[in-house]
Amino acid sequence: MDLMEYQAKELFAAHEVPVTLGTVIDDPALAAEAAAALGGRVVVKAQVKAGGRGKAGGVKLAADPAEAAARAEEILGMDIKGHTVRQVLLAPAAEIADEYYFSFLVDRANRGYLCIASTEGGVEIEEVARTNPDAVAKVPIDPLVGVDDEKALEIVAATGFPAEAADVIQRLWDVFVKEDASLVEVNPLVRLADGRLDALDGKVTLDENADFRHPGHSAFEDTASGDPLEVAAKAKGLNYVKLDGQVGIIGNGAGLVMSTLDVVAYAGERHGGVKPANFLDIGGGASAEVMANGLRIILGDPQVRSVFVNVFGGITACDAVSNGIVQALELLGDHADKPLVVRLDGNNVEAGRKILKEANHPLVTLVETMDGAADRAAELAALAVADDAASVAAE
Ligand code: GDP
Ligand code: MN
Repeated sequence: MDLMEYQAKELFAAHEVPVTLGTVIDDPALAAEAAAALGGRVVVKAQVKAGGRGKAGGVKLAADPAEAAARAEEILGMDIKGHTVRQVLLAPAAEIADEYYFSFLVDRANRGYLCIASTEGGVEIEEVARTNPDAVAKVPIDPLVGVDDEKALEIVAATGFPAEAADVIQRLWDVFVKEDASLVEVNPLVRLADGRLDALDGKVTLDENADFRHPGHSAFEDTASGDPLEVAAKAKGLNYVKLDGQVGIIGNGAGLVMSTLDVVAYAGERHGGVKPANFLDIGGGASAEVMANGLRIILGDPQVRSVFVNVFGGITACDAVSNGIVQALELLGDHADKPLVVRLDGNNVEAGRKILKEANHPLVTLVETMDGAADRAAELAALAVADDAASVAAE
């Protein structure tokens, strides 16, 4: 999970990284008062999960509360790289002497961690790496040792940071390890005119696999800008991603679901260009409840015109999955109103197919092969889309 700048700074503050917190607002009418409370001279910063906000016009200085209100008005609602700005952070404007780049990240290739840092901060580090590679220090970190005094001094020496940075570096390491982050980036880490260091920007990616250790992290989830179906799926513990197509997809196992997306996209080319509407992996236990939750999410997407249920019976046998489908359709009743194409294979496939045949549900078509089922699901979606177009034309 990626955090907004203001959330990253909250974590920094919790680990005593020097940082200037401010006030987050979502309404320009609140800007003047908030700016006045912060001393008048503020920076107004778009809160979106995208870099380069400054270049895009999403970071502006304001000399007084009236100007802060004008800048907030401009920035709120702005689009930055496809993200609508719904919140701005107001913070006391910093007097910057130097801008540095600093990050800790996971170095998978070397099975360790890496610190990347440079005294050439404030700009994109990729750019510095291209134009002035010698200015970018890369210091490997042994996961078993971490960033102790010695390592912090090594980083200071490698970068040419001021000596006081050693302490800040260890506090940022605390953020990285204690919060289970996979990225902590500060660009810029600044030296202020009075000599103090300050994390002026922050980008933190938290490892969601460690959420169970951090009940507080759930507060960072932003439900407002997320897709409502994705939010609903998450609440049900489903692994769902909304896509922009017409064929709903349910499968068990991430690999099978991904290849299902491919075969449906391929089949869709033969049927007017229909596409997969989502990724949904119901995982190992395809119980009636899980199946019903999955179907409810997918059928709740108005773009969906047909659903392809693609299950390979392993530990969960096909007959259990078929029972799940039959019971899910009973649970859903009238909410199930789109054709379902089901392909079953693997453990107990004959028993599974028999259950579906005997249930003889009017919405369900059983197809034996994955390609055949993908083709049928794409065809049904294309027919429904064509029906719509015809009825619109008739009006
Ligand atoms: P980004 O463009 O999304 O990385 O946003 P940043 O938070 O890094 O801000 C971009 C740039 O705006 C920084 O590199 C600074 O040069 C400048 N900036 C941000 N806050 C302040 C501030 O309080 N005072 C001054 N003078 N400049 C700032
Ligand atoms: Mn930045």
